[in-house]
Amino acid sequence: MNNDVILRVDGLRTYFNTDEGVVKAVDGVSFDLHRGETLGLVGESGSGKSVTNLSVMRLIPMPPGKIMGGSVWLDDEDLMKRSEAGMREIRGKKISMIFQDPMTSLNPFLRISTQMVETIRLHEGLPKDEAREKAVTMLKTVGIPNAAKRIDAYPHQFSGGMRQRVMIAIALSCNPEIVIADEPTSALDVTIQAQILELLKDLAHDFGTSVIMITHDLGVVAGMCDTVVVMYAGRIVERGPVDEIFANPQHPYTRGLIKSVPRLDTAGQGRLFSIEGQPPNVIDLPECCPFNPRCESAMDICRRVYPPDHKIEEGRTVACWLHEPHPGDEESEAVSPAAAPASAPTEAPAGASADEEPVQGAEE
Ligand code: SF4
Repeated sequence: MNNDVILRVDGLRTYFNTDEGVVKAVDGVSFDLHRGETLGLVGESGSGKSVTNLSVMRLIPMPPGKIMGGSVWLDDEDLMKRSEAGMREIRGKKISMIFQDPMTSLNPFLRISTQMVETIRLHEGLPKDEAREKAVTMLKTVGIPNAAKRIDAYPHQFSGGMRQRVMIAIALSCNPEIVIADEPTSALDVTIQAQILELLKDLAHDFGTSVIMITHDLGVVAGMCDTVVVMYAGRIVERGPVDEIFANPQHPYTRGLIKSVPRLDTAGQGRLFSIEGQPPNVIDLPECCPFNPRCESAMDICRRVYPPDHKIEEGRTVACWLHEPHPGDEESEAVSPAAAPASAPTEAPAGASADEEPVQGAEE
């Protein structure tokens, strides 16, 4: 693996078996995270952003979920082949997560000191007094006033913004190489959101941490991220540097997302733009472009075959038939799923179901 790449997700597939059918929540997702990079994972609810990252951490509830295929490379090791005990060494130490609502990840019955000190002792092997000292330092770093005293408070004694600061302190306390932030400010007031994002950005820079920022908010992406990966219905539809994606989006869905962002210079000039229609039901999705019912540019081929990844330039791809040579509609009968490029990384094997053998923890 390239030295500059710290995490490589390759062909990840996570399915859920439900009474209604197989939900292909993540279906062939591949991306690289570089050292010191902040990568934004963007898409509507249900696009597979969070499941992608829970799969990376191997935190998918099984059943009903299963990681069906793919690999996640960290330091030249495939995390899918680690035992569960081995994954516990990774979580918190090498990869940390910050969740949307700190109250769901902080234990309400334990003092902050207990939760932080235990984490630091577990991963750093420090004696209790040194671990506590480090915890206090981290709380000061994230802007908790009177940290030496406040460390012994319970989570409910902090405001929402302060709790999220505590979560950031816990996430960074063991100097992880990667932090995954899953909608870290969605539950906060707008003014507090900006403070938390700025704090996260500054600390990631100071600690040299790579960040995966999961969000549906393109404003957050514009302010925080170096690169963007856009997901739709469990697959990546476009990726590239943040400036290029905003200046020149290539996928109709990305264009719609960017057009939907409210702008101060056009405020009051009519209704806000929204993408027509609803995200697809991801149960038993057909092998075509799932955006086609909402896409003004949809062609016949879009309704029958999933588009392959088209490389625009290094690090910049789009999965859309508008960018791929294909037979015209009059010849389109000649194109079948079997004729789609074999290398299309997002195409699931025919007949794949969640009954296949999962790859996770294969060496356990
Ligand atoms: Fe629209 Fe077709 Fe491109 Fe899908 S593949 S986004 S339907 S043009």
